[in-house]
Amino acid sequence: MTKWVYSFGGGTADGKADLRNLLGGKGANLAEMSALGLPVPPGFTITTEVCTYFNQHGHSYPDSLADELAQALAKVEAEVGALFGDAKNPLLVSVRSGARVSMPGMMDTVLNLGLNDVTVEGLASRSGDPRFAYDSYRRFIQMYSNVVLGVDHHNFEEILELEKEEKGVSLDTELNAEDWQRIIVQYKERVEEEHGKAFPQDPKEQLWGAIEAVFGSWMNQRAITYRRLHGVPEDWGTAVNVQAMVFGNMGDDCATGVAFTRDPSTGRNYFYGEYLVNAQGEDVVAGIRTPQSLTKAAREESGGDLPSMEEVMPEVFGQLLAVRERLERHYRDMQDIEFTVQSGKLYMLQTRSGKRTTPAALKIAVDMVADGLITREEAVQRIDPLQLDQLLHPTLDPNAERVIVARGLPASPGAASGIIVFSADEAEKRAQAGEAVILCRVETSPEDIHGMHAAKGILTTRGGMTSHAAVVARGMGRACVAGAGELRVDYRNGTIRVRDIELKAGDTITIDGSSGEIYRGAVQTIQPELSGDFATLMTWADGIRTLKVRTNAETPTDCRTAISFGAEGIGLCRTEHMFFDTTRIVAVREMILAEHTEGRRKALAKLLPMQRQDFVEIFKIMRGLPVTIRLLDPPLHEFLPREETEFSEVAEAAGVSVELLRDRVIKLAEMNPMLGHRGCRLAITYPEIYEMQARAIFEAAVAVQKESGEAPLVEVMIPLVSMEAELARLTALVRDVAEAVFKETGERLEYLVGTMIELPRACLLADRIAKDAEFFSFGTNDLTQTTFGLSRDDAGNFLPAYEARGILEQDPFVSLDQDGVGQLVAMAAERGRRTRENIKLGICGEHGGDPASVRFCHGVGLDYVSCSPFRVPIARLAAAQAALQKAERDV
Ligand code: ADP
Ligand code: MG
Ligand code: MG
Repeated sequence: MTKWVYSFGGGTADGKADLRNLLGGKGANLAEMSALGLPVPPGFTITTEVCTYFNQHGHSYPDSLADELAQALAKVEAEVGALFGDAKNPLLVSVRSGARVSMPGMMDTVLNLGLNDVTVEGLASRSGDPRFAYDSYRRFIQMYSNVVLGVDHHNFEEILELEKEEKGVSLDTELNAEDWQRIIVQYKERVEEEHGKAFPQDPKEQLWGAIEAVFGSWMNQRAITYRRLHGVPEDWGTAVNVQAMVFGNMGDDCATGVAFTRDPSTGRNYFYGEYLVNAQGEDVVAGIRTPQSLTKAAREESGGDLPSMEEVMPEVFGQLLAVRERLERHYRDMQDIEFTVQSGKLYMLQTRSGKRTTPAALKIAVDMVADGLITREEAVQRIDPLQLDQLLHPTLDPNAERVIVARGLPASPGAASGIIVFSADEAEKRAQAGEAVILCRVETSPEDIHGMHAAKGILTTRGGMTSHAAVVARGMGRACVAGAGELRVDYRNGTIRVRDIELKAGDTITIDGSSGEIYRGAVQTIQPELSGDFATLMTWADGIRTLKVRTNAETPTDCRTAISFGAEGIGLCRTEHMFFDTTRIVAVREMILAEHTEGRRKALAKLLPMQRQDFVEIFKIMRGLPVTIRLLDPPLHEFLPREETEFSEVAEAAGVSVELLRDRVIKLAEMNPMLGHRGCRLAITYPEIYEMQARAIFEAAVAVQKESGEAPLVEVMIPLVSMEAELARLTALVRDVAEAVFKETGERLEYLVGTMIELPRACLLADRIAKDAEFFSFGTNDLTQTTFGLSRDDAGNFLPAYEARGILEQDPFVSLDQDGVGQLVAMAAERGRRTRENIKLGICGEHGGDPASVRFCHGVGLDYVSCSPFRVPIARLAAAQAALQKAERDV
């Protein structure tokens, strides 16, 4: 027979912490504390299964529930030595909701249940404190009427205020027993008016009413919305905890408080909490009275003049300290606790793992390893990799003054200050002159890449979280606020307007890409660094993981950042970003506009030394680490101007007529550029482009080898291959160039040629493609687009609806679609290995920094993931966790 009710108290419990699913978090931990022998007021938990039953059976209960409840209640009565509903010696209880995960929307706790016009007299005479008894009764009427009967708070506040006014006092504590009695009469009248029925006097009816309200609250709108947003299944249900009351409001040797066993904002091993003398329940957090510090040290630190608990009730404080020790040792984690002191005796009312900031989480994990409480493996598993993101970008100094101007979407985290510029070229020019700039655009496009790179931050007034600006900024690790619709950008006059504020080009602003806020002037920021506890934990993670972590980077700054964050190579160096540079775009356009191979070669010859220099720099920074360079990928029209207004200038710079330029722009325009003339297809038609790039790579590699005596680890990557013949041809081309360079220079080095796997056909034919590919790098961004047949640039119009309707669990561009795209990756990996046993396998693309995707990559046995520099630590930690989880499963 199913057991519906679990008792706890008196040093024993039916349940334990492991039964969280059945008893909810609160109930499971009350049971656990009780079994540990900690002072927990006795009570019982009605299971989450009853909640499910209740909501599936038209608000009715399992047959045996009433009996089980009566027995459990009798146990509590025996333990406390009082009887529920008894006129002389009444037992009072609290009714508390508690799901598996703490969840807003659940019914608030009702205290002092069991009081009525008769039992209140019993409580008054037994406690010898009528004021306390009537105060408790009026609190009960207020709470019960509000949370169970739905009578609004203001009704009670109104009555209370009038009474206080009449008496000429301002504090609740100044009201005496008679005052409360008068107030109770009015409360009851008001409840009857508002609710249409008298306030229930029968304690049993009160109890069942409260239980029903808790179970009913599982299905209220707020709870449903919360569950949808956080992926909490409906069938989890909530439990109900019924627990004997203890009173923190029975005089000056009573108190109630909340505490963290360590400081939740810094992680410092220091008892951190607040309490109030002569108070009940949520008085501490309600803000009506100022709570006092627990410890003397904390009081002195905060300069508070109210005495600490340590000073006022040293003995009970000592007991609390012992409980703190005990709980930490038992749970092996920082706890968030609630307690009450009744007549000098301590009672524990709740414990749970405490929420903490990221720095605190790191410090606590590292400290607990040092104390021998947890192992390094456990420490590594305690940190949510995504949480690290907070530490990897500059943040606003919390103490800095700021004037907020407007708000947009928090599109890419980090805070940055700089002068307003309106074009990518201007951004680059000013940045080269050493100025910090914020690129402000209505929206951005691929032509703006160089400016985005040069900028400290990007601000757009249009577009969402997957707009070009947002996606590129995240990849580059630039701060970005997107879609700040309140702002009016006027390019012609060089102004930004919002309400009556006008900002001009050259004015300084600050954006916070983590909050979406935009500020006037410079706000002080704090730089991220990987040091202290963070660095320690990352070293432990490195000792555990088997998956390597590389970075997607093409500028010296990004390469250095990535290395400082622990990158073990470059998994994707995109060469087109180098083409957008203002000094080069002219030669690139010349190349595109050339009518014959001859002209193209001439223009490419101008680019060669520049590309070579790029690679020299990168190889030098990445010494000893592999560098995967992807040959040119985007369609050529991306390098040509779009606006007619730019044509004459561009034509002149490239030495061609405006007509020719316009003609080329039209010719190159594609219906469907994502599936058009790009990637390796460019080099099938214009092999001289890849020839130049390959030459630049090998000449650079040879030069660096000569200079340093150390050979760069070069990996040349051919993009967008779908046919083995494409790869065969282009691999041969690259190898021929390499041979030529080796011959010319008299130096040689080892290198790899491989391909980016980003088309379904390439996955299907991976065994054949592996004949020519020494490595596969899964380009999961494009592979997702092509597998779903879904353009990422247009997905913003409908993907959110898919997520909202539960058709897609999450954006497949953020977390790899393991069911579909993942199958292709797994299949291609397996087929690739069949042909070439030691083929190197990795992924690049935004998924490389997503913990769930990293876990997947570990699972299918890839060699590495590659992600943007700022996500490298996230991937390192996620890879370690994946290794630990796999180990757990294998055991
Ligand atoms: P929440 O989930 O909102 O924290 P709780 O059920 O923990 O709600 O109740 C809030 C507060 O009510 C507790 O922190 C405690 O101070 C008080 N409380 C709950 N049950 C009791 C009880 N049996 N005796 C005394 N106080 C109680
Ligand atoms: Mg609450
Ligand atoms: Mg609580």
